[in-house]
Amino acid sequence: MTTAADIVTFSHTYARDVPGLVLRWSAAEVESPQLLVLNDELAVELGLDPAALREPAGLALLVGNGVPDTVALAYAGHQFGNYSPRLGDGRALLLGELIDTAGRRRDLHLKGSGPTPFARGGDGLAAVGPMLREYLVGEAMHALGIPTTRALAVVATGRPVVREQVLPGAVLARVAASHIRVGTFQFAAATRDEALLRSLADHAVARHHPEAAEAPNPYLELFRRVVLAQAELVARWMLVGFVHGVMNTDNMTISGETIDYGPCAFLDTYHPATVFSSIDHGGRYAYGNQPAVAQWNLARFAEALLPLMADTPEQAVELATPVLGEFADAYHAAYRAGMAAKLGLAEHDQQLVDDLLALLRDQRVDFTNFFRALADGTARDLFLDRAAFDAWEARWSALGPDRAAMNRVNPVHIPRNHLLEDALTAAAAGDLAPFLEMLEVVRRPFEPRPEWARYTQPGTGPFVTFCGT
Ligand code: AMP
Ligand code: MG
Repeated sequence: MTTAADIVTFSHTYARDVPGLVLRWSAAEVESPQLLVLNDELAVELGLDPAALREPAGLALLVGNGVPDTVALAYAGHQFGNYSPRLGDGRALLLGELIDTAGRRRDLHLKGSGPTPFARGGDGLAAVGPMLREYLVGEAMHALGIPTTRALAVVATGRPVVREQVLPGAVLARVAASHIRVGTFQFAAATRDEALLRSLADHAVARHHPEAAEAPNPYLELFRRVVLAQAELVARWMLVGFVHGVMNTDNMTISGETIDYGPCAFLDTYHPATVFSSIDHGGRYAYGNQPAVAQWNLARFAEALLPLMADTPEQAVELATPVLGEFADAYHAAYRAGMAAKLGLAEHDQQLVDDLLALLRDQRVDFTNFFRALADGTARDLFLDRAAFDAWEARWSALGPDRAAMNRVNPVHIPRNHLLEDALTAAAAGDLAPFLEMLEVVRRPFEPRPEWARYTQPGTGPFVTFCGT
């Protein structure tokens, strides 16, 4: 009989290199797994046979049944600014690593696979809706060209999950360059075991930032590379109006991939203070705060790395501080280049952009639709104060924008919050059709189609998201 272990051979370099940061643990048995959605394209990229994944042995793999050597990952983290020394994979497991068809090492990880010793009283489970949400938003981000973890599959478990209501349970199989987070370094640093911290840093360098190994101070260079990767990443979020919603240090990767799609959502109307998450009362993770929060998280990363960077903490701080300062320049360079491209301009024009953002904010204009309409010559209709727009548009037009180029970088299709909620509600009730159609749409972000017109409609009224627990 074919079993999960026959379908793929995992390697376990992370568990080998930092055994102190993993806990051997097995997934809760799922008796009758039902495949809800499988990412065929990603399976092929991983060198896996999609047809085999649909067979019973494949489904067993996708929920972790009978997979040897699975581990829960240890990490700490600052959640809304408060430090938790022990978070870790409370409802997740690393199945192992595989080398994809492009030669890259990728983690295959499960979410919702039962409680682990990191569960802190949680049930270790996940519901169908939030796991499909992570699937779809990750695919949308990938299609937009933004570094991200991606879902391989969502499998219904048949287990009830008790939240405010009883919900159908699911396991998400997720692929990432790795699951090393800022919080992983915080956990390692807090053990005061410098050899462990060094092993983690060496693993991260070799895996994600190999050029850093050549630098005079590889750990300082690791820090710089992560600073630059995160600056670029957050700039990309800002340019598409993405609000992560829970930028805790345990939700920030060392690879520079977006991770942990919980209460995230995309802007409809443009406003820097936009918050969707029901638990973000202070607006810490508001759209406009994301660059500052990323830099705050990176300062926590630097603190964890200090023992490796120099002989004394004072020397290490002196080295790390200017590197942390590189975040702002890198962020602004990426954002400005991206904004110039969105406006079809060869060069960034700060005053033009500032004036535009003020107009969009004051007139409550849809962020995504604006840039397409601008290229198509119909943006005027989105403004109440048309004279104000006309004046801005004349300045912009005089710079000779390339409208065709704009339509290659400005998406038509983002996961519209209200439509995604409707699709998830239908999916939880057993009808996957709206979800699957929306998945098609967000996978073609730059391709307008008349039959998909409703996917460009902003929602009406305020939208609230809840953490994916
Ligand atoms: P997240 O909000 O998904 O980033 O998770 C934050 C922390 O809470 C992580 O340590 C998770 O493993 C843990 N966690 C979230 N939900 C659950 C749950 N239902 N059972 C156990 N642990 C959970
Ligand atoms: Mg998380």
